[in-house]
Amino acid sequence: MNVDVAVIGGGVAGLIVARAEVLAGRSVLLLESSDRVGGALASADIAGLPVDTGAESFASRGTAVSTLIRLLGLEQVSPSSAGAWLLRDGRANPLPAVGVMGIPGSPLADDVRAILGTGASVRAWADRLIPELTIGREKNLAELVRRRMGPDVLEALVRPVGENVYGLRPEDAEVDALVPGLNGALTTTGSLSSAVLRLRSSAPAGSAVAGVEGGVHRIADALAADLARFGADLRTGATVTSIDHRAGGWRVRVTDQAAGGVAGGVAGGVIDAARVVVATDGATARALLRPILSDAIAPEAEWPPGRSSTVVSLALEGVGALDAAPRGSGVLVADPGGGATALTHSSAKWPWLRSRLPAGRHLVRVSYRTADEVPIERAVRDAARLLSVEVPASAVVDAARTRWRQDAARATAGLSARLATLSGAVAAVPDLAVTGAWIAGAGLASVVSQAQAEAARLAHSSGS
Ligand SMILES: Cc1cc2nc3c(=O)[nH]c(=O)nc-3n(C[C@H](O)[C@H](O)[C@H](O)COP(=O)(O)OP(=O)(O)OC[C@H]3O[C@@H](n4cnc5c(N)ncnc54)[C@H](O)[C@@H]3O)c2cc1C
Repeated sequence: MNVDVAVIGGGVAGLIVARAEVLAGRSVLLLESSDRVGGALASADIAGLPVDTGAESFASRGTAVSTLIRLLGLEQVSPSSAGAWLLRDGRANPLPAVGVMGIPGSPLADDVRAILGTGASVRAWADRLIPELTIGREKNLAELVRRRMGPDVLEALVRPVGENVYGLRPEDAEVDALVPGLNGALTTTGSLSSAVLRLRSSAPAGSAVAGVEGGVHRIADALAADLARFGADLRTGATVTSIDHRAGGWRVRVTDQAAGGVAGGVAGGVIDAARVVVATDGATARALLRPILSDAIAPEAEWPPGRSSTVVSLALEGVGALDAAPRGSGVLVADPGGGATALTHSSAKWPWLRSRLPAGRHLVRVSYRTADEVPIERAVRDAARLLSVEVPASAVVDAARTRWRQDAARATAGLSARLATLSGAVAAVPDLAVTGAWIAGAGLASVVSQAQAEAARLAHSSGS
């Protein structure tokens, strides 16, 4: 089988590059190992409604996702004004209004004191008295916060946000990669809290996240529909096992997924392509690329491990206390032990979702940092505890459980430099593009921008 472009991996990154290539008039074959495209943009039917089970929002800084949504004919929506809460030592409080990565901009504000207590808040405020020069330029997030604001800010605020929202322990996080500009603002303003205020004041007004009417998974659905309309060939159940660079292009090998099937419908399991786009998860991409870029890719054991999670989505009915959104848009757990790490009250967060539910029905999703089976009854108990409401078994109208595996965050210490080297090596190989969350950073805003940049680079690739 011969094509102009073989795209390996049908997550949002692969779909974006495939779309750019097909619009440029090239024949495109997209190979996806699972039984559906979209990757972490996914939905489950919950009580008759397709509900996001992977990504459910995106950072609204930057314009890449907004522009893509408009282009695809989808409608961008804002979350409700209900903020998120924090549960610590069994006590729930709204998350401080002014912060970056959980670092408070106003350590003596009431919402910070309610979580930390007055003593720890005053210690955090003392950051303003510590000369910047004695600290120097701190690379490690945990160290920066502990030294300037004290251990309570680290444990009660920064850790829950880091681990739950960014999938990153503060000890492993590189400040410059995670919050670009923070160290610079610290040097200019002289304190960490002032630096946070400086970053916040330069951010656009309004909510920092946005969603899509109908769910974020619709971005993948719309991209796939476009690809089909413009004549791209989408194959699911096709796992790529190797790519070889040869004169005039690439040879891509595919294995069977479906029993008795022929490699996603690819006769002989071999494809010759002028260009290849690697858009899988990190470990798979590195295994495919290592024979070609051996000098630029360290052995797999030297890469930080990814993480597993499980999302349990619940439709609940007849729990009247939920109408008042007792935990706003949701709650982060500061001390989860091995239990639920976060809950999103989706129907309180997204007005479009609430408007599609019958009166008295609510949707919540409970998150766990585990690949183990999470019984639905356990998720219902955790939802009740996190929301501080009674949820009888009869209230559960429907449920879905989804397991995920994600790559190590790009802001993991040392990783962004390693990935920059790798990107340089990729750019030196004609007719090769590499995209996806492992190299771009996990947030959709980063993935979409990097995929579009990679598509533009490929368009000017010298080989063909
Ligand atoms: C539970 C969860 C919640 C999230 N929430 C948010 C959020 O709210 N906001 C936000 O901005 N981001 C969020 N993200 C992150 C964001 O969704 C992802 O970073 C992004 O969707 C990744 O897209 P991708 O194309 O890089 O990778 P993926 O979506 O992982 O796609 C990679 C694809 O490659 C396929 N593949 C792998 N190996 C092969 C092979 N050998 N051959 C063929 N195909 C292969 C896989 O099956 C997969 O479909 C969330 C992620 C998860 C898991």
